[in-house]
Amino acid sequence: MKEKFIEVVLPLPLRGPLVYRLPSHFQDQARPGCRVRVPLGSKRLIGCFLGETEIKPHFPTKEILEILDGEEPILSGLQLRLLQWASAYYLTPVGEVLRHLLPPRLLHSKEGRKTKERPIKPPSGLEDFTVPQTPSLNAEQEAALRTVRERLEQPKEPILLHGVTGSGKTEVYIAAVREVIHRGGQALILVPEIGLTPQIVGRFQNLGAPTAVYHSALTEAQRFQVWTAAKKGLTGAVIATRSGIFLSFPNLKLIVIDEEHDPSYKQEERFCYHARDLALWRGEEERVPVLLGSATPSLESLYRVEKGKMRLSRLTDRPAGVRHPTLETIDRRGRKKGHPIFSEELLEAIRANLRKGEQTLLFLNRRGFSPFVLCPECGFVPKCSQCEISLTLHGNGLICHYCDGSQPYHSICPQCRRGTMQPEGFGTERIDAELRRLFPSARVARMDRDSTKKGEWLKILERMKRREIDILVGTQMITKGHDYPYLTLVGILDADLSLHLPDFRAAERTFQLITQVAGRAGRSERPGRVLIQTFHPTHESILAAAARDGGEFYSRELRERLEAGYPPFRRLIEIRLAGAKRDSVIETSQKLTRRIVASIQPEEGSILGPAPCLVEKVRGKTRWRLLIKTPHYTKIQPRLRRLLDEFCGNTLPSTVKMLVNVDPVDMM
Ligand code: ADP
Ligand code: ZN
Repeated sequence: MKEKFIEVVLPLPLRGPLVYRLPSHFQDQARPGCRVRVPLGSKRLIGCFLGETEIKPHFPTKEILEILDGEEPILSGLQLRLLQWASAYYLTPVGEVLRHLLPPRLLHSKEGRKTKERPIKPPSGLEDFTVPQTPSLNAEQEAALRTVRERLEQPKEPILLHGVTGSGKTEVYIAAVREVIHRGGQALILVPEIGLTPQIVGRFQNLGAPTAVYHSALTEAQRFQVWTAAKKGLTGAVIATRSGIFLSFPNLKLIVIDEEHDPSYKQEERFCYHARDLALWRGEEERVPVLLGSATPSLESLYRVEKGKMRLSRLTDRPAGVRHPTLETIDRRGRKKGHPIFSEELLEAIRANLRKGEQTLLFLNRRGFSPFVLCPECGFVPKCSQCEISLTLHGNGLICHYCDGSQPYHSICPQCRRGTMQPEGFGTERIDAELRRLFPSARVARMDRDSTKKGEWLKILERMKRREIDILVGTQMITKGHDYPYLTLVGILDADLSLHLPDFRAAERTFQLITQVAGRAGRSERPGRVLIQTFHPTHESILAAAARDGGEFYSRELRERLEAGYPPFRRLIEIRLAGAKRDSVIETSQKLTRRIVASIQPEEGSILGPAPCLVEKVRGKTRWRLLIKTPHYTKIQPRLRRLLDEFCGNTLPSTVKMLVNVDPVDMM
């Protein structure tokens, strides 16, 4: 028999697959996608058989030792293509992608025996929720559902469901999923954060087939169970966070992406994928309809609509009887007297709401008591010893928001030993304390990463539902998906916080945040009111949010992105280098930049940097980055990939770590 060589991916951050010899007695068992055991150095590891290679390697190769999957390869054909495509597109080691596709236990050398057929129980992670009645759809919802139905018959471009907050997008998803299950198919519903929105899980029950949830707060065993159930076709609907996009389904008929603009769909470490973009790829590859929904779509999706690559469906109003909240901006410029945080209007509105027994939501996207403390005598500001950033004052000491390291807080300046340290500015903890002082009889709760340990947010949300909380203060955790009939007042304490970030998406984000949090007010027959405190009442993103009209704002943003050469007109590729030795990081990033400059023609793209990251030192590591801006990514992608593989293999010092981020979302 002819000698055969195969490529094997190991779950390691190696730049490419490895080549092994396939002994003749394995030749009719081995199929692409199945797991194999191979020797690597002194170890025996489990990897996946990618495919045969035609080229006979000119180096000595080892034989594979064992084939671990019997009848059926563990990776489907689609997953194999996803593996190859995603690792190429995201310039990521293929082994890193493999680790996202398979549960850890299937790749672990000790447990990775031949997969025993165990009886599959219905997936856990299913909670008992009271299932609310689903209303009959209105004309716009019906129209949106029809476009989904058309695509169930025949593949067509994806749908963007642009519906104002509370307009009934979720009801459309539910109807579409029900239809899919009725036709014997499976549906995948991606949401930004399941833990924060338990109601959504409840709304997807009783659709005619089991619903499962899949997210990172589950145990590995629970995740494995859902992974297996989906693969066996035992689930009707899986509601998942971003990693759900890697699940395999024999009978997938619909992918829904709720709040498609949400930044949490992007992973910004190791393998920097965007779940929405992978969903669009899967939709095309698997011929599965994709339904994106948002009240504040991303410019990327709106641009796709403009180019005819996506179909727009609109929900322009809330259901009959539910009015939109009124939005008012409160100009904080030139303010001298009065409370430093709350405007008189907002205080009055909170008072009135307390009298009526209705609930208030106060939004501030900054944790802690105050963002820094200052000695008025000598000017000393405590900084983190590991990161180049000032420490945030919290109730339990000074905390670094980059490494979570903490230091005790002394009110006497540790430097001059004369001054009394002053907290500067405010965060959610300070708001919480101030509210308790101003409204001693009100029941105040706070929801942010510090106040809410795992599982505790559920208690807060339950108390909110039972109206045991009068005022809820929180960060962006409170902006998503919540629906409380007695919540009638929303206060945005500092609408400008996200406006001045050095990020080309700052205006878009600000518009999205204000619109989303404002959408929590007045979702029943009780009218809602939103007060927006700002120093920039005439900034277009604030004007647009206050007017509840994104149309003009979006066209202007698109024009500006076009002129400045930013996404969605150009692609960005960010490469970060980090290491403990500053000189070595800088030198390596300069070397890498020179190579990239030499391999890319000016018309194919431009290179910015290298330059230090916004916060240069984090956890004791110096961080530098460079940015490639390109109108022709598909053209330069193979070249970049070869260049990076070669650079990592030969030039990158072992003390410097590299992270490649294609289409970065977090520009900080
Ligand atoms: P969205 O997902 O757009 O925020 P939801 O689907 O959560 O909106 O709907 C908001 C509220 O309006 C929910 O309580 C929902 O049950 C209700 N609703 C949605 N569609 C209708 C309809 N056609 N008739 C009556 N009520 C509806
Ligand atoms: Zn730190």
